[in-house]
Amino acid sequence: MAGSSALSLTHVTVTYADGYEAVHDVSVEVEPGEILALLGASGSGKSSMLRGIAGLEEVTTGHVLIQGEDTAGIPVHRRGCGMVFQSPQLFPHRTVGQNVAYGIERSGRSRAAVHQEVAQWLELVGLAGFAGRAVTTLSGGQAQRVALARSLAPRPRIMLLDEPLSALDRRLREELSVELRRILTQAGTAAVYVTHDHDEAFTVADRVAIMRDGRVVQVGTMSDLYGHPVPEAEGFLRAIPTVRAIAVRKLPGGGVRVVLDRSEVDLPDARGEVGDEVVVALKEHGSSH
Ligand code: ADP
Ligand code: MG
Repeated sequence: MAGSSALSLTHVTVTYADGYEAVHDVSVEVEPGEILALLGASGSGKSSMLRGIAGLEEVTTGHVLIQGEDTAGIPVHRRGCGMVFQSPQLFPHRTVGQNVAYGIERSGRSRAAVHQEVAQWLELVGLAGFAGRAVTTLSGGQAQRVALARSLAPRPRIMLLDEPLSALDRRLREELSVELRRILTQAGTAAVYVTHDHDEAFTVADRVAIMRDGRVVQVGTMSDLYGHPVPEAEGFLRAIPTVRAIAVRKLPGGGVRVVLDRSEVDLPDARGEVGDEVVVALKEHGSSH
């Protein structure tokens, strides 16, 4: 549906058979092309929420709309969700290329067209030329890139990623989180990205939803969350330096320009009017301000 959100959750609750309510009254929107992170401690209900969106768990109350379509009664394979989990779950007896082709080989396209498309997806994930490789020869990071390409190839309406980097070591995780953002942004797919890692959430996502005990306690960009944290979210906002600056200009594509230490700095995800005070979170990465 034109003009609708990629994903819209209204008052979503997920209750397990034993009566345990893992997700409680969650309402959140993901805009087309937007990456939303669900950030929370283990057991806060992140995976339950993702599984509810995918149809792997039943949503007990509320509505899940994907591109404007109510998913009630729609089975997992018809929802148009691409999924990536902590373990890549590749088909061991297929090559890298055959893994990526999996979701598009019965699409009516010719073998040559599928071949070409597989090559393009592999290039996007940084594995150009890997099509003929056995998946058993890949490193953990490479395998996860293949899993990502395989999920993106059928052009899902939304990507759902559940801690895709948490099995990797810290350095690789940092490197791949920057890569993941680039790949998802270039693919243009909206995504929900589950993580318990603060840095990863803010590196990968446009906005972060902080989950606690099954509830989303706050949603926003880094400057929203650091500028106006609600008390329940503060435990998850790692102490990082912030400075206050005055907005001097609204940017045409959204965001504002501020003056910091006599230099002008554009903050594409900050909101406000000229003259407003804006909180700027200072990160070490080059990927954001
Ligand atoms: P997270 O992904 O944030 O770690 P989960 O969504 O996996 O959290 O789990 C949230 C809560 O739901 C936890 O307390 C967990 O024990 C409970 N839970 C998860 N799966 C089930 C299930 N199948 N039956 C009952 N409780 C479950
Ligand atoms: Mg989980």
